[in-house]
Amino acid sequence: MTDCVLTWLADNGAGYARIMINGKRILHHRYVYHRHNNISLEDMEGKLVLHTCDNSRCINPAHLYLGTHEDNMRDMVARNRVRTGKQLTQEIANDIRARRYKATGKELAAEYGVEVDTIYDVWTGKTWKENAPVANYNAKLTDDQVKYIRSNRTLYARELAAMFNVSIGCIYSVQQGKTYKHVI
Ligand SMILES: [Zn+2]
Repeated sequence: MTDCVLTWLADNGAGYARIMINGKRILHHRYVYHRHNNISLEDMEGKLVLHTCDNSRCINPAHLYLGTHEDNMRDMVARNRVRTGKQLTQEIANDIRARRYKATGKELAAEYGVEVDTIYDVWTGKTWKENAPVANYNAKLTDDQVKYIRSNRTLYARELAAMFNVSIGCIYSVQQGKTYKHVI
């Protein structure tokens, strides 16, 4: 599973962010789902855009799916989530952050005996906020990520930047072939 990508927009007070499109406010993750899957907002009416990661501020298209309120309730129970981060210490949280690009969430979750969501919460700064980084401008992209960025025709540069935790300028450089020239 890929990392969560947090919306850069303000919280609406209920854990969600809204974006203004054509004079209408729409939930940001709902908008990303609509754009990424090329499905019209009309066709999405009556359905919810749900998170497999259970992180309401996540806009990673890979974590979003269309479902009903009943699906949502069922999944919440099935996940039986542990989201408090109480089992961690600041030292462990620091270690989890330091290994963000070296280990997967699953591996770290297994190592520390916590839910994968707990790892994502640390990475995204939802828990153990003290040492949470904002954007890692020196992040190295993998060849696969570079290919994804170059082949993507639906997401905005700022959405891609948020997804990979890099600057928007970095996304432009990748798209224009100024960086990562070795990746074809
Ligand atoms: Zn997510």
